[in-house]
Amino acid sequence: MDYNKKIFVTHAGYDPSLERAIEEIFRMFDRDWQGKTVLVKPNILGPHPPEKAVTTHPFLVKCVVRALKKRGARIIVGDNPGMGGYGKIESVARKCGILDSVSDCFINLGHHPLRIPAKSKYFKEVTISREVLEADVIINLPKLKTHSLTILTGAVKNTFGYVVGADKMHIHAACPTPRQFAEGLLDVYQIRPPELNIMDAILAMQGNGPSNGKPVFLGLVMASDNAVSLDAAAVHMLGQKPWSVPHLEMAAERGLGETDVRKMNITGQLNSVKDFQFPGTFVPGLAGLVLNRYLSRWMNCLPEVVRKRCTSCGICSGHCPTQAMTRTSDGPLLDRDKCINCYCCQEMCPENAIRLSGRLLRMLGRH
Ligand code: SF4
Ligand code: SF4
Repeated sequence: MDYNKKIFVTHAGYDPSLERAIEEIFRMFDRDWQGKTVLVKPNILGPHPPEKAVTTHPFLVKCVVRALKKRGARIIVGDNPGMGGYGKIESVARKCGILDSVSDCFINLGHHPLRIPAKSKYFKEVTISREVLEADVIINLPKLKTHSLTILTGAVKNTFGYVVGADKMHIHAACPTPRQFAEGLLDVYQIRPPELNIMDAILAMQGNGPSNGKPVFLGLVMASDNAVSLDAAAVHMLGQKPWSVPHLEMAAERGLGETDVRKMNITGQLNSVKDFQFPGTFVPGLAGLVLNRYLSRWMNCLPEVVRKRCTSCGICSGHCPTQAMTRTSDGPLLDRDKCINCYCCQEMCPENAIRLSGRLLRMLGRH
């Protein structure tokens, strides 16, 4: 399989050093941009301010848009947030600072859903934003974050935002184990792999991401024309084996990118980040691989509501793909038998009121 292995990594902050880094990336991954329709796809997971490190920083998005304008591209910026529904996409983008930073280019990706056949053994069709399918070029702008289900929210996971609205929940329901979801995620990614991926690893997130982890300053921007290779380089930098992340292991099996950093062509220093905290659900190395593959019931954690933080807003039950969470006046109630451990409820809870509890976590003292 012929895929590119070029990785770029440099130091930057949310200041003029980032503008210089973006210009360098555009020089390194040069192409004809004139007149092309370019979809810029940041991570706009939910209505979180930039300092929470949940969403791609608005200044990075602004720098990319500025670089594209200079090169004569026709730019659209958008995402399908996990939270809010079609009508709320603008308000979510405003809260995370992206709408105001690129207002003339922003588009509500939820307005033009197309139902298309899916090449997946788990779902026959998928609803994708038309702009994703029609763009000449896609620039993916992931945030470097952890994820309780997929371990990493990087470049590949950011393409799950191609999927419009509630169809994300249907895919979760159709792919109920972590390995099945990894396959479903790759099925979505393969519909339209981005041409360029620029990762915001300046203020990253560690711990129980993707929305309730802890911000950690790494001061890095990374880029590649291959999302799988970029994620693998990031996982290696954070001290873990890329194959211990299920969707990267499977991506390598499908020949979608390079996961061996020794075979990558890296410009810049990929220095190790010490003591980075992965989610409590992650068991590193071979043990994790075996547990994930053969003993996944040991890995399964159940969401548990921290009552003193819960405001009974109902967001978690509204995003539960299997109706395992139901809303009551005393807060959500969980039906354990229906829960598929997707952790969408934890991801969407605005109050960090859901923690994950499981046999293995308790044994490892991470709960
Ligand atoms: S989303 Fe969080 S705060 Fe809202 S009901 Fe669920 S647990 Fe409570
Ligand atoms: S209760 Fe939470 S973890 Fe369980 S299926 Fe629903 S959203 Fe997923």
